[in-house]
Amino acid sequence: MRLRFAPSPTGQLHVGNARTALFNWLLARGSGGTLILRIEDTDVVRSTKEAEGTAFDDLRWLGLSWDEGPDAGGDHGPYRQSERGHIYRAHAVELMASGKAYYCFCSEEDLEQERYHALRAGLPPKYGGRCRNLSRDEARRRVENGEPAVVRFRVTDEEREIAFTDVVRGDVSFNSGVIGDFVILRTGGIPTYNFAVVIDDALMEISDVIRGEDHISNTPRQLLLYEAFGWKPPRFAHVSMVLGPDHSKLSKRHGATSVSEFREKGYLPEALANYLALLGWSPGENEELLPLEELAKRFRIEDVGKSPGVFDPEKLAWANRHYLKAAPPDRLATLAIPFLQQAGWVTEPDAAALEFLAHAVSAAAASVDHLDQVPARLRFLFDYSASRALEDPAVRAEAESAAAVIEALADVLANGGRLLERESFRAAAAQVRQRTGLKGKELFHPIRLVLTGEAEGMELDISVPAIERGAELQASGLRPVMGARERAAEFARLLRAR
Ligand code: GLU
Repeated sequence: MRLRFAPSPTGQLHVGNARTALFNWLLARGSGGTLILRIEDTDVVRSTKEAEGTAFDDLRWLGLSWDEGPDAGGDHGPYRQSERGHIYRAHAVELMASGKAYYCFCSEEDLEQERYHALRAGLPPKYGGRCRNLSRDEARRRVENGEPAVVRFRVTDEEREIAFTDVVRGDVSFNSGVIGDFVILRTGGIPTYNFAVVIDDALMEISDVIRGEDHISNTPRQLLLYEAFGWKPPRFAHVSMVLGPDHSKLSKRHGATSVSEFREKGYLPEALANYLALLGWSPGENEELLPLEELAKRFRIEDVGKSPGVFDPEKLAWANRHYLKAAPPDRLATLAIPFLQQAGWVTEPDAAALEFLAHAVSAAAASVDHLDQVPARLRFLFDYSASRALEDPAVRAEAESAAAVIEALADVLANGGRLLERESFRAAAAQVRQRTGLKGKELFHPIRLVLTGEAEGMELDISVPAIERGAELQASGLRPVMGARERAAEFARLLRAR
């Protein structure tokens, strides 16, 4: 099997396109086939090198490698349509020589008029054929005189069905009568999408075209071109669009839509890729979260459903939580560092700082959907402020009524060692309980306020030892962590000072 993913580098890689790439990858890897990456950059105005680079990065980040194409090594290609102009022009010349294509000199205004009248008369807006029967000599003379011309493909006159069996959608057919002679080369010899895609898929010997359903109406034109060249068309599989929760095409107003946006929010690549595979396909009941290699073994394009994939952020978050729990602490720390740098708490962490972060981040990651939420969970470490906590009227009220707990805590900590383990924290809490006679929430909630500066957060059994390890840490590249003893002393002092 030879498959291809053919992005147009005109912006960010949309998750719908990433899913198309993934389906191609799954089929190529599962079948021992070849995956080709082809850059469809004939739209010179909208295509950019930057978007091309982003697409490469996003595909690699998702774990989708390709065998032929830019950066793949090997000496095939070129795989950028902008570098294949001579190939398209030679094929257009071939069609013209056999009368299957012709020069057209109609101006944009003429064509606009024609479309307008057709629409008013309730007819399909197709090319009327004015230049269809110009003699070849006349056409050549006009081109040589510098008159701007496009090249059109001649669609046969008699109406007929153009039918094909789509692997996802079943039997599909179009009436050739609605397809007017269409442009294959624009002025300047730039190929149109429908032309370039057929030449490339044929010359690259693509066996299966998996692409978005938005291209299904292009397929009859492409089939006519295959026929004109006497080439066997590939199998087509048009996968449904990815829709937002309101069932309109997933777009900006639904939130993040591009692979890089999800990366920047701290989704793990394996979670996003796994989730995208589940949009319209299932590897088996209760076995949805599996490594890509395993998904590839099970993937069959025939099993992809034709109903649209509705993007479910909750399900993506579920997949991400699963993979966050499975990720090693070092990796989580590395991934979370940019977010912590943004918060201003981390610069260039040394080895000791990294080890500390690995513990802290993996503890925080147990209760987040994506890693950009980690700073909020770790604020208690790096950005503690008793005075800021006490500015909150609810905190102040609670602290005042729990003054006995707070005084006892400050005293116990002033006279004891650091609470580096959950046991030492529990022992300290037990002493406070003995002195005050309070327990449960009445004991632990004020302790939480004092030691973390926050009304809620991760378990104190985990956060207090983290604070204490932070306070003891000899490291660089991290904002210093204030210890529990110092926090309690400061909090109690401010409360008394009132
Ligand atoms: N460049 C086209 C797109 O990005 C590819 C269409 C195709 O796969 O044929 O939509």
